[in-house]
Amino acid sequence: MTESAERVVGRLRTAFTSGRTRSIAWRRAQLLALAKMLSDNEDEILAALATDLGKPRFEAWAGDIGASVSEAEYLAKHVGSWAKDDSAPLPLPFRPGRASIRYQPRGVVLVIAPWNYPVYLLATPLAAALSAGNAVVCKPSEVTPATSALITRLAGEYLDPEAIVFVEGGVDETTALLEQRFDYILYTGNGTVGRIVAEAAAKHLTPTTLELGGKSPAIVDRDANLKQAASRIAFAKWSNAGQTCIAVDHVWAHRDIHDELVDRLVTEVRERYGINPRESKDFGRIVNERHTERIKVLLDRGGYDEIVLGGEIDIDARYIAPTIVTGTKPSAALMSDEIFGPILPVLSFDDIDEPVAHINASDHPLALYVFAKKHADGVLDATTSGGACVNDTMMQVFPPSLPFGGVGESGHGAYHGKWGFETFSHRRAIYRRPGFFVEPALAKAPYTAFKERVARFVY
Ligand code: NAD
Repeated sequence: MTESAERVVGRLRTAFTSGRTRSIAWRRAQLLALAKMLSDNEDEILAALATDLGKPRFEAWAGDIGASVSEAEYLAKHVGSWAKDDSAPLPLPFRPGRASIRYQPRGVVLVIAPWNYPVYLLATPLAAALSAGNAVVCKPSEVTPATSALITRLAGEYLDPEAIVFVEGGVDETTALLEQRFDYILYTGNGTVGRIVAEAAAKHLTPTTLELGGKSPAIVDRDANLKQAASRIAFAKWSNAGQTCIAVDHVWAHRDIHDELVDRLVTEVRERYGINPRESKDFGRIVNERHTERIKVLLDRGGYDEIVLGGEIDIDARYIAPTIVTGTKPSAALMSDEIFGPILPVLSFDDIDEPVAHINASDHPLALYVFAKKHADGVLDATTSGGACVNDTMMQVFPPSLPFGGVGESGHGAYHGKWGFETFSHRRAIYRRPGFFVEPALAKAPYTAFKERVARFVY
Protein backbone atom coordinates (compact mmCIF):
# COMPACT_ATOMS: atom_id res chain seq x y z
CA MET A 1 0.00 0.00 0.00
CA THR A 2 1.63 3.26 -1.04
CA GLU A 3 -0.61 5.48 1.07
CA SER A 4 -0.96 4.44 4.72
CA ALA A 5 -4.29 3.07 5.93
CA GLU A 6 -4.53 5.98 8.33
CA ARG A 7 -4.09 8.52 5.54
CA VAL A 8 -6.59 6.77 3.25
CA VAL A 9 -9.27 6.74 5.95
CA GLY A 10 -8.45 10.31 7.00
CA ARG A 11 -8.75 11.48 3.40
CA LEU A 12 -12.11 9.74 2.96
CA ARG A 13 -13.36 11.17 6.23
CA THR A 14 -12.57 14.66 4.98
CA ALA A 15 -14.45 13.92 1.76
CA PHE A 16 -17.40 12.52 3.68
CA THR A 17 -17.68 15.41 6.13
CA SER A 18 -17.50 17.86 3.22
CA GLY A 19 -20.89 16.45 2.17
CA ARG A 20 -19.52 15.34 -1.20
CA THR A 21 -21.10 11.88 -1.13
CA ARG A 22 -24.55 12.75 0.17
CA SER A 23 -26.45 14.07 -2.82
CA ILE A 24 -28.61 11.66 -4.77
CA ALA A 25 -26.96 12.95 -7.92
CA TRP A 26 -23.49 11.86 -6.69
CA ARG A 27 -24.79 8.46 -5.61
CA ARG A 28 -26.48 7.82 -8.95
CA ALA A 29 -23.47 9.03 -10.90
CA GLN A 30 -21.15 6.67 -9.00
CA LEU A 31 -23.51 3.71 -9.34
CA LEU A 32 -23.84 4.24 -13.07
CA ALA A 33 -20.09 4.77 -13.40
CA LEU A 34 -19.56 1.44 -11.62
CA ALA A 35 -21.97 -0.28 -14.03
CA LYS A 36 -20.22 1.37 -16.99
CA MET A 37 -16.78 0.41 -15.67
CA LEU A 38 -17.80 -3.25 -15.66
CA SER A 39 -19.59 -3.16 -19.02
CA ASP A 40 -16.91 -1.17 -20.88
CA ASN A 41 -14.17 -3.51 -19.73
CA GLU A 42 -15.99 -6.80 -20.01
CA ASP A 43 -13.35 -8.54 -22.12
CA GLU A 44 -10.47 -7.59 -19.86
CA ILE A 45 -12.41 -8.63 -16.75
CA LEU A 46 -13.39 -11.97 -18.30
CA ALA A 47 -9.73 -12.58 -19.16
CA ALA A 48 -8.61 -11.79 -15.60
CA LEU A 49 -11.26 -14.14 -14.17
CA ALA A 50 -10.08 -16.85 -16.55
CA THR A 51 -6.49 -16.34 -15.39
CA ASP A 52 -7.36 -16.45 -11.69
CA LEU A 53 -10.09 -19.07 -11.60
CA GLY A 54 -10.32 -20.58 -15.07
CA LYS A 55 -13.82 -19.18 -14.94
CA PRO A 56 -15.89 -20.20 -17.96
CA ARG A 57 -16.89 -17.15 -19.97
CA PHE A 58 -20.64 -17.56 -19.39
CA GLU A 59 -20.27 -18.05 -15.62
CA ALA A 60 -17.88 -15.12 -15.33
CA TRP A 61 -20.17 -12.84 -17.27
CA ALA A 62 -23.40 -13.90 -15.49
CA GLY A 63 -22.02 -14.31 -11.97
CA ASP A 64 -19.55 -11.44 -11.81
CA ILE A 65 -20.31 -8.82 -14.45
CA GLY A 66 -24.02 -9.13 -15.35
CA ALA A 67 -25.22 -9.53 -11.76
CA SER A 68 -23.10 -6.57 -10.58
CA VAL A 69 -24.22 -4.27 -13.39
CA SER A 70 -27.87 -5.06 -12.82
CA GLU A 71 -27.55 -4.47 -9.04
CA ALA A 72 -25.79 -1.10 -9.54
CA GLU A 73 -28.40 0.01 -12.09
CA TYR A 74 -31.27 -1.14 -9.89
CA LEU A 75 -29.90 0.86 -6.95
CA ALA A 76 -29.37 3.93 -9.17
CA LYS A 77 -32.98 3.70 -10.28
CA HIS A 78 -34.49 3.43 -6.80
CA VAL A 79 -32.17 5.32 -4.48
CA GLY A 80 -34.01 8.62 -5.01
CA SER A 81 -37.23 7.27 -3.52
CA TRP A 82 -35.57 5.13 -0.83
CA ALA A 83 -33.54 8.06 0.49
CA LYS A 84 -36.63 10.14 1.20
CA ASP A 85 -37.72 10.43 4.82
CA ASP A 86 -40.29 7.85 5.93
CA SER A 87 -43.05 9.27 8.05
CA ALA A 88 -44.03 7.38 11.19
CA PRO A 89 -47.47 7.36 12.86
CA LEU A 90 -47.78 9.02 16.27
CA PRO A 91 -49.99 7.92 19.16
CA LEU A 92 -52.10 10.57 20.85
CA PRO A 93 -49.76 11.65 23.67
CA PHE A 94 -47.15 12.73 21.12
CA ARG A 95 -49.51 14.94 19.13
CA PRO A 96 -49.48 17.57 17.85
CA GLY A 97 -46.20 16.61 16.26
CA ARG A 98 -44.59 14.78 13.38
CA ALA A 99 -42.31 11.76 13.36
CA SER A 100 -40.02 10.72 10.58
CA ILE A 101 -37.12 8.38 9.86
CA ARG A 102 -34.22 9.85 7.95
CA TYR A 103 -31.78 7.56 6.13
CA GLN A 104 -28.35 8.99 6.70
CA PRO A 105 -25.11 7.60 5.29
CA ARG A 106 -23.04 5.87 7.96
CA GLY A 107 -19.83 7.67 6.98
CA VAL A 108 -16.61 5.98 5.94
CA VAL A 109 -17.17 2.27 5.40
CA LEU A 110 -14.96 -0.73 4.61
CA VAL A 111 -15.83 -3.54 2.19
CA ILE A 112 -13.60 -6.64 2.33
CA ALA A 113 -14.14 -9.14 -0.49
CA PRO A 114 -13.17 -12.79 -1.09
CA TRP A 115 -11.84 -14.47 -4.18
CA ASN A 116 -14.61 -16.76 -5.46
CA TYR A 117 -16.68 -14.05 -7.19
CA PRO A 118 -14.01 -11.37 -6.94
CA VAL A 119 -15.94 -8.78 -8.96
CA TYR A 120 -19.50 -9.43 -7.79
CA LEU A 121 -18.65 -9.69 -4.08
CA LEU A 122 -16.81 -6.40 -4.20
CA ALA A 123 -19.05 -4.49 -6.62
CA THR A 124 -22.40 -5.29 -5.00
CA PRO A 125 -21.50 -4.28 -1.42
CA LEU A 126 -19.73 -1.23 -2.89
CA ALA A 127 -22.90 -0.35 -4.81
CA ALA A 128 -24.99 -0.73 -1.65
CA ALA A 129 -22.59 1.54 0.27
CA LEU A 130 -22.64 4.14 -2.52
CA SER A 131 -26.43 4.09 -2.76
CA ALA A 132 -26.52 5.11 0.90
CA GLY A 133 -24.07 7.99 0.29
CA ASN A 134 -20.95 6.68 2.04
CA ALA A 135 -17.27 7.10 1.33
CA VAL A 136 -15.88 3.61 0.75
CA VAL A 137 -12.63 1.72 1.12
CA CYS A 138 -12.66 -1.52 -0.89
CA LYS A 139 -10.29 -4.37 -0.16
CA PRO A 140 -10.25 -6.95 -3.00
CA SER A 141 -8.87 -10.43 -2.33
CA GLU A 142 -5.17 -11.07 -2.87
CA VAL A 143 -6.02 -14.68 -3.80
CA THR A 144 -7.22 -13.52 -7.26
CA PRO A 145 -4.39 -11.11 -8.13
CA ALA A 146 -5.18 -10.52 -11.81
CA THR A 147 -8.80 -9.55 -11.16
CA SER A 148 -7.98 -7.50 -8.08
CA ALA A 149 -5.28 -5.50 -9.86
CA LEU A 150 -7.58 -4.87 -12.81
CA ILE A 151 -10.61 -3.66 -10.85
CA THR A 152 -8.38 -1.50 -8.67
CA ARG A 153 -6.97 0.21 -11.75
CA LEU A 154 -10.40 0.59 -13.36
CA ALA A 155 -11.91 2.01 -10.16
CA GLY A 156 -9.23 4.73 -10.24
CA GLU A 157 -10.32 5.63 -13.77
CA TYR A 158 -14.11 5.48 -13.40
CA LEU A 159 -15.03 6.28 -9.79
CA ASP A 160 -14.66 9.38 -7.64
CA PRO A 161 -11.11 9.03 -6.22
CA GLU A 162 -11.85 11.48 -3.42
CA ALA A 163 -14.45 9.17 -1.88
CA ILE A 164 -13.81 5.64 -3.19
CA VAL A 165 -10.45 3.98 -2.68
CA PHE A 166 -9.38 0.44 -3.53
CA VAL A 167 -6.60 -0.96 -1.36
CA GLU A 168 -4.82 -4.03 -2.70
CA GLY A 169 -2.79 -6.37 -0.52
CA GLY A 170 -3.00 -9.29 1.86
CA VAL A 171 -3.21 -9.86 5.59
CA ASP A 172 -0.87 -6.97 6.49
CA GLU A 173 -2.82 -4.42 4.50
CA THR A 174 -6.19 -5.69 5.77
CA THR A 175 -4.89 -5.67 9.34
CA ALA A 176 -3.70 -2.08 8.94
CA LEU A 177 -7.11 -1.08 7.60
CA LEU A 178 -8.89 -2.86 10.44
CA GLU A 179 -6.95 -0.81 12.98
CA GLN A 180 -8.70 2.32 11.67
CA ARG A 181 -12.07 3.48 12.84
CA PHE A 182 -14.75 2.83 10.24
CA ASP A 183 -18.44 3.58 10.56
CA TYR A 184 -19.44 0.23 9.06
CA ILE A 185 -17.66 -2.89 7.82
CA LEU A 186 -19.05 -5.48 5.41
CA TYR A 187 -16.83 -8.54 5.25
CA THR A 188 -17.34 -11.54 2.97
CA GLY A 189 -15.23 -14.64 3.49
CA ASN A 190 -14.55 -17.42 5.95
CA GLY A 191 -15.60 -17.49 9.59
CA THR A 192 -12.07 -17.52 11.01
CA VAL A 193 -11.23 -14.18 9.43
CA GLY A 194 -14.82 -13.08 10.14
CA ARG A 195 -13.97 -13.35 13.84
CA ILE A 196 -10.80 -11.28 13.33
CA VAL A 197 -12.87 -8.61 11.59
CA ALA A 198 -15.54 -8.66 14.31
CA GLU A 199 -12.90 -8.30 17.03
CA ALA A 200 -11.20 -5.39 15.29
CA ALA A 201 -14.56 -3.73 14.69
CA ALA A 202 -15.57 -4.17 18.34
CA LYS A 203 -12.58 -2.05 19.44
CA HIS A 204 -14.25 0.92 17.74
CA LEU A 205 -17.84 -0.25 18.34
CA THR A 206 -18.16 -0.42 14.56
CA PRO A 207 -21.22 -2.34 13.37
CA THR A 208 -20.63 -5.12 10.85
CA THR A 209 -22.27 -7.33 8.30
CA LEU A 210 -20.46 -10.66 8.11
CA GLU A 211 -21.19 -12.67 4.98
CA LEU A 212 -19.71 -16.06 5.81
CA GLY A 213 -20.07 -19.60 4.47
CA GLY A 214 -20.96 -23.04 5.76
CA LYS A 215 -22.25 -26.39 4.67
CA SER A 216 -25.44 -25.78 2.71
CA PRO A 217 -27.44 -29.00 2.31
CA ALA A 218 -29.94 -30.11 -0.31
CA ILE A 219 -32.65 -32.54 0.79
CA VAL A 220 -34.36 -34.60 -1.88
CA ASP A 221 -37.47 -36.36 -0.65
CA ARG A 222 -39.15 -39.37 -2.27
CA ASP A 223 -41.92 -37.26 -3.87
CA ALA A 224 -39.55 -34.74 -5.52
CA ASN A 225 -39.27 -34.22 -9.26
CA LEU A 226 -35.90 -35.95 -9.64
CA LYS A 227 -35.00 -34.65 -13.08
CA GLN A 228 -35.41 -31.08 -11.87
CA ALA A 229 -33.66 -31.78 -8.58
CA ALA A 230 -30.62 -33.32 -10.31
CA SER A 231 -30.38 -30.48 -12.82
CA ARG A 232 -30.63 -27.74 -10.21
CA ILE A 233 -28.25 -29.42 -7.79
CA ALA A 234 -25.75 -29.87 -10.64
CA PHE A 235 -26.00 -26.17 -11.49
CA ALA A 236 -25.30 -25.16 -7.88
CA LYS A 237 -22.57 -27.73 -7.27
CA TRP A 238 -20.47 -27.51 -10.40
CA SER A 239 -20.75 -23.85 -11.45
CA ASN A 240 -17.46 -22.14 -10.61
CA ALA A 241 -16.18 -25.66 -9.76
CA GLY A 242 -18.18 -25.63 -6.54
CA GLN A 243 -16.54 -22.48 -5.19
CA THR A 244 -19.77 -20.68 -4.40
CA CYS A 245 -20.84 -19.79 -0.87
CA ILE A 246 -24.41 -20.92 -1.59
CA ALA A 247 -23.39 -24.03 -3.54
CA VAL A 248 -25.00 -27.31 -2.55
CA ASP A 249 -22.37 -28.70 -0.19
CA HIS A 250 -23.90 -32.18 0.15
CA VAL A 251 -27.15 -33.98 -0.65
CA TRP A 252 -29.50 -35.94 1.58
CA ALA A 253 -31.48 -38.34 -0.64
CA HIS A 254 -34.46 -40.42 0.47
CA ARG A 255 -33.46 -44.08 0.25
CA ASP A 256 -36.32 -44.87 -2.19
CA ILE A 257 -35.04 -42.43 -4.82
CA HIS A 258 -31.33 -42.41 -3.91
CA ASP A 259 -30.08 -44.54 -6.82
CA GLU A 260 -32.19 -42.81 -9.43
CA LEU A 261 -31.09 -39.38 -8.19
CA VAL A 262 -27.41 -40.39 -8.32
CA ASP A 263 -27.85 -41.74 -11.88
CA ARG A 264 -29.47 -38.49 -12.91
CA LEU A 265 -26.68 -36.44 -11.32
CA VAL A 266 -24.12 -38.47 -13.28
CA THR A 267 -26.12 -37.80 -16.46
CA GLU A 268 -26.20 -34.07 -15.66
CA VAL A 269 -22.41 -33.95 -15.36
CA ARG A 270 -21.97 -35.81 -18.65
CA GLU A 271 -24.44 -33.56 -20.46
CA ARG A 272 -22.80 -30.41 -19.13
CA TYR A 273 -19.10 -31.23 -19.30
CA GLY A 274 -18.82 -34.37 -21.47
CA ILE A 275 -16.97 -37.57 -20.69
CA ASN A 276 -13.76 -35.68 -19.88
CA PRO A 277 -14.68 -32.48 -17.97
CA ARG A 278 -11.01 -31.49 -17.98
CA GLU A 279 -11.39 -30.62 -21.63
CA SER A 280 -14.63 -28.71 -21.21
CA LYS A 281 -14.40 -24.96 -21.62
CA ASP A 282 -17.36 -24.71 -19.27
CA PHE A 283 -15.79 -26.27 -16.18
CA GLY A 284 -13.64 -24.06 -13.95
CA ARG A 285 -10.49 -24.62 -11.91
CA ILE A 286 -9.74 -24.40 -8.19
CA VAL A 287 -8.37 -21.00 -7.27
CA ASN A 288 -4.91 -22.22 -6.21
CA GLU A 289 -2.86 -25.28 -5.30
CA ARG A 290 -3.39 -24.83 -1.56
CA HIS A 291 -7.17 -25.04 -1.92
CA THR A 292 -6.85 -27.99 -4.37
CA GLU A 293 -4.75 -29.82 -1.78
CA ARG A 294 -7.22 -28.92 0.99
CA ILE A 295 -10.13 -30.47 -0.97
CA LYS A 296 -8.05 -33.53 -1.88
CA VAL A 297 -7.38 -34.19 1.82
CA LEU A 298 -11.12 -34.17 2.53
CA LEU A 299 -11.66 -36.80 -0.17
CA ASP A 300 -8.62 -38.89 0.83
CA ARG A 301 -9.78 -39.17 4.41
CA GLY A 302 -12.69 -41.41 3.34
CA GLY A 303 -15.79 -42.04 5.40
CA TYR A 304 -17.90 -43.01 2.36
CA ASP A 305 -18.60 -46.21 0.38
CA GLU A 306 -17.84 -45.31 -3.21
CA ILE A 307 -16.73 -42.63 -5.66
CA VAL A 308 -19.36 -43.15 -8.37
CA LEU A 309 -18.11 -40.36 -10.62
CA GLY A 310 -14.90 -38.37 -11.01
CA GLY A 311 -12.27 -38.46 -8.27
CA GLU A 312 -9.38 -37.28 -10.53
CA ILE A 313 -7.30 -34.54 -8.94
CA ASP A 314 -4.31 -32.73 -10.47
CA ILE A 315 -2.83 -30.35 -7.95
CA ASP A 316 -0.50 -28.57 -10.40
CA ALA A 317 -3.33 -27.95 -12.86
CA ARG A 318 -5.69 -26.99 -9.99
CA TYR A 319 -8.14 -29.48 -11.47
CA ILE A 320 -10.67 -31.54 -9.56
CA ALA A 321 -13.17 -33.48 -11.65
CA PRO A 322 -16.87 -33.20 -10.88
CA THR A 323 -17.08 -35.93 -8.26
CA ILE A 324 -19.99 -37.80 -6.66
CA VAL A 325 -19.47 -39.84 -3.53
CA THR A 326 -22.14 -42.18 -2.12
CA GLY A 327 -22.62 -43.95 1.18
CA THR A 328 -21.26 -40.88 2.96
CA LYS A 329 -21.24 -41.16 6.77
CA PRO A 330 -22.17 -38.04 8.75
CA SER A 331 -18.77 -38.46 10.44
CA ALA A 332 -16.80 -38.29 7.13
CA ALA A 333 -14.19 -35.55 6.70
CA LEU A 334 -16.22 -34.34 3.72
CA MET A 335 -19.01 -33.60 6.22
CA SER A 336 -16.83 -31.65 8.67
CA ASP A 337 -15.80 -28.51 6.77
CA GLU A 338 -17.37 -26.56 3.93
CA ILE A 339 -16.10 -28.35 0.80
CA PHE A 340 -15.99 -25.31 -1.48
CA GLY A 341 -15.09 -27.50 -4.45
CA PRO A 342 -16.69 -29.85 -7.00
CA ILE A 343 -17.12 -32.91 -4.76
CA LEU A 344 -20.69 -33.91 -3.94
CA PRO A 345 -21.20 -36.29 -1.01
CA VAL A 346 -24.58 -38.02 -1.01
CA LEU A 347 -26.15 -39.32 2.21
CA SER A 348 -29.34 -41.34 2.39
CA PHE A 349 -32.24 -41.18 4.81
CA ASP A 350 -35.41 -43.11 5.57
CA ASP A 351 -37.24 -40.41 7.44
CA ILE A 352 -37.10 -36.66 6.77
CA ASP A 353 -36.44 -36.12 10.48
CA GLU A 354 -32.89 -37.52 9.99
CA PRO A 355 -31.51 -34.70 7.81
CA VAL A 356 -33.49 -32.18 9.84
CA ALA A 357 -31.88 -33.44 13.06
CA HIS A 358 -28.43 -33.32 11.45
CA ILE A 359 -28.95 -29.76 10.21
CA ASN A 360 -30.16 -28.64 13.63
CA ALA A 361 -27.17 -30.23 15.34
CA SER A 362 -24.78 -28.40 12.96
CA ASP A 363 -23.92 -24.75 12.37
CA HIS A 364 -26.72 -22.81 10.69
CA PRO A 365 -26.02 -22.97 6.94
CA LEU A 366 -26.03 -20.04 4.54
CA ALA A 367 -28.51 -21.83 2.28
CA LEU A 368 -30.84 -24.80 2.48
CA TYR A 369 -32.48 -26.46 -0.50
CA VAL A 370 -35.44 -28.77 -0.23
CA PHE A 371 -36.88 -30.76 -3.10
CA ALA A 372 -40.15 -32.14 -1.81
CA LYS A 373 -43.91 -31.80 -2.04
CA LYS A 374 -45.36 -32.98 1.26
CA HIS A 375 -42.52 -32.07 3.62
CA ALA A 376 -41.12 -28.85 2.12
CA ASP A 377 -42.71 -26.45 4.58
CA GLY A 378 -42.12 -28.83 7.47
CA VAL A 379 -38.37 -28.74 6.72
CA LEU A 380 -38.40 -24.95 6.46
CA ASP A 381 -40.27 -24.65 9.76
CA ALA A 382 -38.03 -27.08 11.61
CA THR A 383 -34.68 -25.56 10.53
CA THR A 384 -33.05 -22.21 9.89
CA SER A 385 -30.52 -20.95 7.34
CA GLY A 386 -29.51 -17.63 5.77
CA GLY A 387 -31.83 -18.27 2.80
CA ALA A 388 -33.64 -21.23 1.28
CA CYS A 389 -35.18 -22.54 -1.93
CA VAL A 390 -37.94 -25.04 -2.45
CA ASN A 391 -37.47 -27.09 -5.64
CA ASP A 392 -34.55 -24.92 -6.78
CA THR A 393 -31.04 -23.80 -5.86
CA MET A 394 -29.28 -20.41 -5.58
CA MET A 395 -32.31 -18.43 -6.81
CA GLN A 396 -32.87 -16.90 -3.37
CA VAL A 397 -29.87 -14.67 -4.08
CA PHE A 398 -30.91 -12.90 -7.25
CA PRO A 399 -34.27 -11.13 -6.73
CA PRO A 400 -33.42 -7.66 -5.38
CA SER A 401 -36.52 -7.87 -3.19
CA LEU A 402 -34.91 -10.59 -1.03
CA PRO A 403 -32.28 -9.94 1.66
CA PHE A 404 -29.04 -11.88 1.24
CA GLY A 405 -27.20 -12.83 4.42
CA GLY A 406 -26.40 -15.58 6.88
CA VAL A 407 -27.48 -16.56 10.36
CA GLY A 408 -25.27 -17.77 13.21
CA GLU A 409 -22.04 -19.25 11.84
CA SER A 410 -23.00 -18.28 8.29
CA GLY A 411 -22.94 -14.62 9.27
CA HIS A 412 -25.21 -11.77 10.23
CA GLY A 413 -26.72 -8.75 8.51
CA ALA A 414 -27.88 -8.68 4.92
CA TYR A 415 -27.75 -6.70 1.70
CA HIS A 416 -28.96 -6.67 -1.95
CA GLY A 417 -31.51 -4.19 -3.27
CA LYS A 418 -33.12 -2.01 -0.64
CA TRP A 419 -31.67 -4.21 2.08
CA GLY A 420 -28.20 -3.03 1.08
CA PHE A 421 -29.24 0.61 1.09
CA GLU A 422 -30.63 0.13 4.61
CA THR A 423 -27.57 -1.76 5.82
CA PHE A 424 -25.32 1.13 4.90
CA SER A 425 -27.73 3.79 6.24
CA HIS A 426 -28.28 4.97 9.76
CA ARG A 427 -32.01 5.27 10.52
CA ARG A 428 -32.24 8.51 12.41
CA ALA A 429 -35.46 9.04 14.36
CA ILE A 430 -36.71 12.62 14.15
CA TYR A 431 -39.58 14.06 16.15
CA ARG A 432 -40.87 17.58 15.52
CA ARG A 433 -43.17 19.62 17.69
CA PRO A 434 -44.95 22.59 16.18
CA GLY A 435 -43.61 25.88 17.61
CA PHE A 436 -46.97 26.90 18.98
CA PHE A 437 -47.29 23.89 21.26
CA VAL A 438 -47.51 24.73 24.95
CA GLU A 439 -45.38 22.58 27.26
CA PRO A 440 -47.69 20.09 29.07
CA ALA A 441 -47.67 20.70 32.80
CA LEU A 442 -47.85 16.94 33.30
CA ALA A 443 -44.15 16.24 32.69
CA LYS A 444 -43.03 19.05 34.92
CA ALA A 445 -41.88 18.67 38.54
CA PRO A 446 -43.06 18.88 41.17
CA TYR A 447 -44.87 15.64 40.31
CA THR A 448 -48.16 14.99 42.07
CA ALA A 449 -50.43 12.01 42.52
CA PHE A 450 -52.89 13.66 40.15
CA LYS A 451 -50.26 14.10 37.43
CA GLU A 452 -49.29 10.44 37.81
CA ARG A 453 -52.94 9.38 37.48
CA VAL A 454 -53.33 11.40 34.29
CA ALA A 455 -50.04 10.08 32.89
CA ARG A 456 -51.11 6.49 33.58
CA PHE A 457 -54.41 7.14 31.82
CA VAL A 458 -52.85 8.78 28.76
CA TYR A 459 -50.19 6.13 28.22
P1 NAD B 1 -10.14 -14.81 1.14
O1 NAD B 1 -9.03 -15.73 1.53
O2 NAD B 1 -10.02 -14.04 -0.13
O3 NAD B 1 -10.40 -13.82 2.36
C1 NAD B 1 -11.37 -12.81 2.29
C2 NAD B 1 -10.73 -11.48 2.65
O4 NAD B 1 -10.19 -11.53 3.96
C3 NAD B 1 -9.58 -11.07 1.73
O5 NAD B 1 -9.79 -9.75 1.28
C4 NAD B 1 -8.36 -11.20 2.59
O6 NAD B 1 -7.38 -10.22 2.28
C5 NAD B 1 -8.89 -10.98 3.98
N1 NAD B 1 -8.08 -11.69 4.98
C6 NAD B 1 -7.57 -12.94 4.88
N2 NAD B 1 -6.91 -13.26 6.01
C7 NAD B 1 -7.00 -12.20 6.85
C8 NAD B 1 -6.52 -11.91 8.17
N3 NAD B 1 -5.81 -12.80 8.86
N4 NAD B 1 -6.82 -10.71 8.71
C9 NAD B 1 -7.54 -9.82 8.02
N5 NAD B 1 -8.01 -10.03 6.76
C10 NAD B 1 -7.74 -11.19 6.18
O7 NAD B 1 -11.51 -15.61 0.99
P2 NAD B 1 -12.02 -16.86 1.79
O8 NAD B 1 -12.27 -16.51 3.21
O9 NAD B 1 -11.20 -18.07 1.49
O10 NAD B 1 -13.44 -17.04 1.04
C11 NAD B 1 -14.10 -18.24 1.03
C12 NAD B 1 -15.11 -18.28 2.15
O11 NAD B 1 -15.99 -17.18 2.02
C13 NAD B 1 -15.99 -19.51 2.12
O12 NAD B 1 -16.21 -19.95 3.45
C14 NAD B 1 -17.28 -19.02 1.53
O13 NAD B 1 -18.42 -19.76 1.89
C15 NAD B 1 -17.33 -17.63 2.06
N6 NAD B 1 -18.12 -16.78 1.20
C16 NAD B 1 -19.25 -16.24 1.69
C17 NAD B 1 -20.04 -15.47 0.86
C18 NAD B 1 -21.29 -14.81 1.34
O14 NAD B 1 -21.77 -13.94 0.63
N7 NAD B 1 -21.84 -15.17 2.48
C19 NAD B 1 -19.64 -15.26 -0.46
C20 NAD B 1 -18.47 -15.82 -0.90
C21 NAD B 1 -17.70 -16.58 -0.07
